[in-house]
Formats: sequence, structure tokens, C-alpha cells
Amino acid sequence: MYSVAIDGPAGSGKSTIAKLLAKELNISYVDTGAMYRAIALKAKEENLDTEEKLKHALKSINIDFNEDRIFLDDVDVSDKIRTEEISKLASDISKLDFVREMLVSIQQNIASKKPVVMEGRDIGTVVLKDAKYKFFLTASIDSRVNRRYKQNLERGIKSDIEELREDIVKRDYNDTHRKNSPLVKASDAILIDNSNLNLEDNIELMLKYIRGE
Ligand code: C5P
Repeated sequence: MYSVAIDGPAGSGKSTIAKLLAKELNISYVDTGAMYRAIALKAKEENLDTEEKLKHALKSINIDFNEDRIFLDDVDVSDKIRTEEISKLASDISKLDFVREMLVSIQQNIASKKPVVMEGRDIGTVVLKDAKYKFFLTASIDSRVNRRYKQNLERGIKSDIEELREDIVKRDYNDTHRKNSPLVKASDAILIDNSNLNLEDNIELMLKYIRGE
């Protein structure tokens, strides 16, 4: 059994690339950011505005995946978790030790049962430290902002590009500066800057490493 760990900042193409790579390798894909987002959505919808309330609610939370869809307490929330508001909230709650502990253990459990491509911020450094293949994707801030802008348009959301840039810069700062499992490249991860790389070439590059070419 093997796993592929993919980490990187917002807009580095992790999700799209991880999904396609998993398809190519014929193994499962796990989007760990979606789990942090699902908890953020629960916190928002149930007004869990203190750590105590959130901790209590997490005791009975149910997060499930089916193909590419994520279910929170049996409801498909895949689209609802993709707003900028939830992005920010997810980044905030991801600083909490008890949230990370719970999600890391769910993620490790998934990867212990089947080969996976798992993407997030701490996969190569914490969750799957022994993953056979590790990649750290990044891209210039301009490329990342443009990608997010286009992604939002595809979802029918017209964003303010400067606001988007500010949100991404802030989230990058939060994710790289938090005490607990900050976003950092694992020393044994392969760094890919895909600012000037298209999707197909990026995946091909990763497949070459995996196939040992
Ligand atoms: O990847 P995505 O943008 O969906 O992640 C949302 C937020 O969840 C990130 O900004 C980060 O704060 C948090 N996250 C994390 N660890 C992961 C995945 C996501 O802290 N493994």
C-alpha cells in the first residue's frame, strides 16, 4: 500500500491536480481542506462561537466522503463549503489543537485502509509522514489569485480580484505562521512551482516521479 501526499498554499492547484492524479493512478482522492471547511460550516450554522461549544459539537459530528462529495451529518455540503467566508473560518478553526487532532486521526485512518492521494497543508509533514511520494505545489501569488478568480466564475461567483488577493495573502500568512502544524514543505517533498505549467504537464511531471522515470 502506498500514498501520495500533496501540500501547498491556496490556489496552487492541489485539489484539481490531486483529483486527476488519483484517477490516473486508480486510487482514492482525499481533500482534507474540505474537512476543515465542513467543521467551519457547522460552527457557522450552529453558532458554535466558543471553543467549548465547538469541542462539544465535534463529539457527535459525522464527516463522510462519497466519490468527490463531502457529507456533514449526512447532508451533502460540497458546494456550500466553497465560499470565501468559509475559507477564512476554516483557516481560523484549523489553528485549534483539538480540531487538528480529530481530523488527523480520521485522515490517518482512511490512509491505513487503502492507497490514497491526500492533499492539504500538513500531509507530508504530519498526517502521512511516511508517504511514499510527497509533493509541494506552489505558484506565484498572481497565478494563484487568477486561478481562484476563474474557479469562482465557473461556480457563478464574480469576485473582486483585489479582495481575493487580500484573502489569499491573509490565509497564506495564517496557514504558514500558526503554531500547530504550519504549512511548510516537508524536507523530502518534491517542490513544483506550477506558475507556468499547465495542468497536464504538472500531472505528467508527478507521474514521472512516481513511475521513477
Ligand atoms: O485546501 P483548502 O483551501 O480547502 O483548505 C481550507 C483551510 O483549511 C486552509 O486554509 C487551512 O487553514 C486548513 N487546512 C489545514 N490543514 C489541511 C487542510 C486544510 O489546516 N491539511
